[in-house]
Amino acid sequence: MDKKFAIFDMDGTLVDSMGYWNRLADEYLARFGLPGLSPALKEESIALTMLESAQLFIREFGLPGTPEQIAGEINALMKEHYRTDVPLKPGAAELLARLKEAGIRAGMDDSDQSMGWKAAEYEMKGVPLRVEIGPKDMEKNQCCICRRDSGEKVFVSLENLEDTVKELLDSVHDGLYQRAKKNLEDHTRVCLTLEDVKAFMEGEGGFAKTMWCGELDCELKMKEQAGVTSRCMPLEQEKVGETCVCCGKPAKHMIYWGVAY
Ligand SMILES: [Zn+2]
Repeated sequence: MDKKFAIFDMDGTLVDSMGYWNRLADEYLARFGLPGLSPALKEESIALTMLESAQLFIREFGLPGTPEQIAGEINALMKEHYRTDVPLKPGAAELLARLKEAGIRAGMDDSDQSMGWKAAEYEMKGVPLRVEIGPKDMEKNQCCICRRDSGEKVFVSLENLEDTVKELLDSVHDGLYQRAKKNLEDHTRVCLTLEDVKAFMEGEGGFAKTMWCGELDCELKMKEQAGVTSRCMPLEQEKVGETCVCCGKPAKHMIYWGVAY
C-alpha cells in the first residue's frame, strides 16, 4: 500500500455504521428464521457492544447458545463482508475525491481496526499526514491533521483542506530535509590530509569533507588507505583547502567521503 494520507473514521461519521449494523443483525437473525429487528429493538441496540447485543437477542428471541458464542458468530459475519459491503457516507467520498482532485495521493482506511492500530500502522508505512475526523469535527466543519514527523496535531477547516494539506506536506518535507542536513553537518569534518581522514574515520567517524584533484587514482588510494569512498560532490562547492587531500596537487573539487561498508 503506497498511501500518502489516511482518513480515519470515528464513530460512524463517514461510514453508515448504523445502517450496516441493522442489516447485519437482520442477516444473522434470518438464520433462525426470524424477521429481523423491530424499530424499537434497532433503537435499543444503538451503542450496545457486540456482547450486549447478543444478550439482547437471547432475551428477545430466545436464541440458543451463550452471548459470547453469538457475539462471535456476528463478528465473523461482519468480518466476512465488512470491507465490500459498507456504504460510505457522501462526506467521506467527497473529502477523498477533493484531495485526489488537488493532486494529493490519499487513501482511506475504513477497516474495523482500532484508532491506535491505524495510527501505528500508517506511521510505520511512512504516511506523512493523517487526517482524523469525528462527529464533533464534522459539525464544526473541521478535521484534525496529525504530522508524522513531529506528532503535532492541528485542527483545520474543511474549506481549506486541500491548501492546508499541501502546506503541511511541504513543511514535513522541509523538516525532514533540514533534519537530514543537520545530521550530515553534525557528522562532517573538514580534513586536509589523508592522515586526517584516517584518524577521523578510526575515531569519531562520519563524513570527511575534503578537496580533491579529480583523479581516479586518488579515489582508489583513499579507499585502499582510509577505507572511504566518495559519497557526494555537492553542486554548491566550497573551498576548504588548496590541494588534493590525497596527492597534494592543486584541487579541483570539494567532495564528501564516507566509510565503505
Ligand atoms: Zn589527488
